Amino acid sequence: MNIHEYQAKQVLKGFGAPVADGVPVFRASEAEAAANKLPGPLYVVKSQIHAGGRGKGKFKELPADAKGGVRLAKSVAEVVANANEMLGNTLVTKQTGPAGKQVNRLYIEDGADIERELYLSILVDRSVGRVAFVVSTEGGMDIETVAHDTPEKIVTLAIDPEKGVTAQDAGKLNAALNLSGNAAKDGEKLFPLLYDAFTTKDMSLLEVNPLIVMKNGHLRVLDAKVSFDNNALFRHPDMVELRDTTEEDAKEIEASKYDLAYVALDGNIGCMVNGAGLAMATMDIIKLYGEEPANFLDVGGGASKEKVTAAFKIITADPNVRGILVNIFGGIMKCDVIAEGVVAAVKEVGLKVPLVVRLEGTNVELGKRIIRESGLNVTPADDLDDAAQKIVQAVKGN
Ligand code: ADP
Ligand code: MG
Repeated sequence: MNIHEYQAKQVLKGFGAPVADGVPVFRASEAEAAANKLPGPLYVVKSQIHAGGRGKGKFKELPADAKGGVRLAKSVAEVVANANEMLGNTLVTKQTGPAGKQVNRLYIEDGADIERELYLSILVDRSVGRVAFVVSTEGGMDIETVAHDTPEKIVTLAIDPEKGVTAQDAGKLNAALNLSGNAAKDGEKLFPLLYDAFTTKDMSLLEVNPLIVMKNGHLRVLDAKVSFDNNALFRHPDMVELRDTTEEDAKEIEASKYDLAYVALDGNIGCMVNGAGLAMATMDIIKLYGEEPANFLDVGGGASKEKVTAAFKIITADPNVRGILVNIFGGIMKCDVIAEGVVAAVKEVGLKVPLVVRLEGTNVELGKRIIRESGLNVTPADDLDDAAQKIVQAVKGN
């Protein structure tokens, strides 16, 4: 789960991080009052969407030379003018894809006098099995570009979970970021508290880009992106309250209601598979034969008929789906349950695209019979390879 920048800053502030004063705004009519709560004379109007690159982003509805999704304003009147121009429009950034995202919230923030922009993130480094800091003096820009062009400017520091962020770690991070004086003292406080926030709230990513050194020599968290580990969300009802479902894929929200592991993708072949490994293999083999999967979907081990029906409906609701491949290896999951779910769903929503079903494992004969006797137009397949070729062929011939 992701949250907005202003929410992330609120969370980090609770752990003691230095953030600017700011006020979230949902309607342009609220902008003036929001700005009046801030000291001025410099304000920043920031689009709140679940995607980065907002500063360099472009609004679809505005002329090409209009300003981006993060705008400086030198008066309350300018804040209001910008809010009117931005709210409700669609911001396209490097991370949103060409469709962009509608800006429904703004964050009006106190403007900072920036001396230097740095990069800092905390993530789970699977290669060492630890939480790690990733820092760079090259902040404020696309970190992927820095990683590509000047990888030596990125420093990774793994943290010992028993010790947390030690004074020595803080020293290393300060050195990597070239911080001294007050900024280094701020760093000594900031690094452990960010680590504390990350671990306490079960975050999977905490990215501050940029972390800034201000003209007065102190550090400030200027941008914040936080993602949580969904498997740990049940421990954090206060974080779940920050969820903004308008930022999420409607199909993924529906899938989460049924506890289905579903990720929407860009291709044309809808997949219903059990087991993450088999789901990945199915996606790979679809690509091998020249098509792209429309989704990742693992219906899980002991899925009920209701769950299978819901999964099938989610797949067929995707207008990009031009063919469906059901690939089930029934171990714990029984093939007849899958078959019943598929038949029930098809009867309810209809079947407008080719459907290939490959069943193997527990109760396979019963499952095949249910499908055969349903009278549905289903193409049976014998194994993974056969199934992938058949669905790709069916989609290509359509
Ligand atoms: P994004 O990463 O989505 O483009 P940021 O929050 O990083 O959005 O803002 C982009 C740039 O705008 C920053 O790198 C910084 O230069 C400037 N900026 C953002 N917030 C402020 C602020 N409060 N005061 C001054 N400049 C800001
Ligand atoms: Mg940023």
